[in-house]
Amino acid sequence: MKRLVMKFGGTSLAAGENFRLVANLVSNYVNQGFKVVVVVSALKGVTDRLIEASEHAKTGDLEAIYRFKREITEEHLEAARKSIRDPNIRGEVSDALRRTLDELEKVLTGIAYVGELTPKSRDYVLSFGEKLSTRIAWGTLRDAGLNAQYFTGGSAGIVTDSNFGEAKPLMNVTKHQVKSRIEPLLEEGVVPVITGYIAATPEGVTTTLGRGGSDYTATIIGAALGVDEVWIWTSVDGLMTSDPKIVPDAKVIPEVSFQEATEMAVFGAKVMHPRALEPAMEENIPVRIRSIFNPESPGTLIVKEQKIKPIDVVKAITLVKDVALVNVSGAGMIGAPGTAAKVFDVLGKKNINILMISQSVSEANISFIINRGSLEKAVNALEIALLGRGLIREVTAEDDICVVAVVGAGMRGTPGVASRVFSAVARRGINIRMIAQGSSELNISFVVKEADGEEAVRAIHEEFRLGEN
Ligand code: ADP
Ligand code: ASP
Ligand code: MG
Repeated sequence: MKRLVMKFGGTSLAAGENFRLVANLVSNYVNQGFKVVVVVSALKGVTDRLIEASEHAKTGDLEAIYRFKREITEEHLEAARKSIRDPNIRGEVSDALRRTLDELEKVLTGIAYVGELTPKSRDYVLSFGEKLSTRIAWGTLRDAGLNAQYFTGGSAGIVTDSNFGEAKPLMNVTKHQVKSRIEPLLEEGVVPVITGYIAATPEGVTTTLGRGGSDYTATIIGAALGVDEVWIWTSVDGLMTSDPKIVPDAKVIPEVSFQEATEMAVFGAKVMHPRALEPAMEENIPVRIRSIFNPESPGTLIVKEQKIKPIDVVKAITLVKDVALVNVSGAGMIGAPGTAAKVFDVLGKKNINILMISQSVSEANISFIINRGSLEKAVNALEIALLGRGLIREVTAEDDICVVAVVGAGMRGTPGVASRVFSAVARRGINIRMIAQGSSELNISFVVKEADGEEAVRAIHEEFRLGEN
């Protein structure tokens, strides 16, 4: 019988009632004979609020910590009350929630007294959102008559490096551990319920897989178990031609390739974690994105084989906010081989990821796009390493920009796509600051002022008539 990993996202877990929806969906499939592993995200907004709470803690604001604990306790207990009918199970879940929340308070208070928030302690704080929501899911599934067993990502066997905030799984150990801990349970008819987003180093220190990382948890577990499919249940009907919040007439894309979906995720389609497709791609496990509010709809199927239809030249337009442009310039760069290599070496050593690169023909400058959160680190590192050696004269930065990406495998070898993209944007009077096309030709991306981003996305969506059936 088919084995599935089902991940439930935070946007679909906004309200307590939704846990019942989740439990019904899961038990439907289990009763049909499917073997299901469940992965759960934190309730909507909770991870953001944990970040805020950790910042308050750093400044020693104990009052804010106590207030936060009261609010978050009430919200989770309320969700458990709404979703779990059996008083014994509800009592057990409420006790577990209280214990977890007491621990959270201690952690935050500890940070407040020390006055220091390290990446390690921050990840520890961030891990609580999933620990709480997964407890409720565990209880609701048991309430629905399933034999559910609770795991954290770490206890399920996911081991990562210690790059806190953006940890990478060590796949060999992970596969081995997940297989030996989870597979026997599946065979016995147990439904493992695993916290998304969080894992542990080989020493057992809690790590997180990057924002939106529950998708990644699902595919890591799926790859380790070699399941038939991974299903990402969320609040939208699938991967769409653009973010429906920006383009109201965006349409669901029935099928995309791993490569296209990855480009979309890397370039801002928030519905999927950018690295989440790697494990699935490696093991060739199809991934489906579907909505818990519309389970009859097949959603989007992400597979290896791309079926290019002529109408599919452009599949989706995405927008990356929260990025910054860095420009390194100086006449010393002209004809000096290895300058670009030095720049990227400096950034690589600081673990700074580069989204786009462009170098002018004159070679007097290199521009690139990075996450806004890394901007200060990047500029400091470049100045320390390169200024004053005659190679470069200046490092400048702009942080009010965004990246628009046009994605579609059908663009490969189709002439004229780029000119249509840029004309559509120009007709709206939007100025393009920088352009790049990946060597895969799966995407064309360009930089505009942040204020122009959404309008540029709508212009291209309209140009390629993606909102029409
Ligand atoms: P979850 O909590 O289920 O993980 P996310 O908030 O991470 O959900 O992702 C779902 C959101 O992604 C949607 O609310 C939607 O606005 C946004 N989104 C951005 N781009 C796209 C896209 N191309 N297709 C679908 N959703 C998108
Ligand atoms: N709760 C985490 C986040 O908000 C992980 C996830 O939702 O996938 O980033
Ligand atoms: Mg998500």
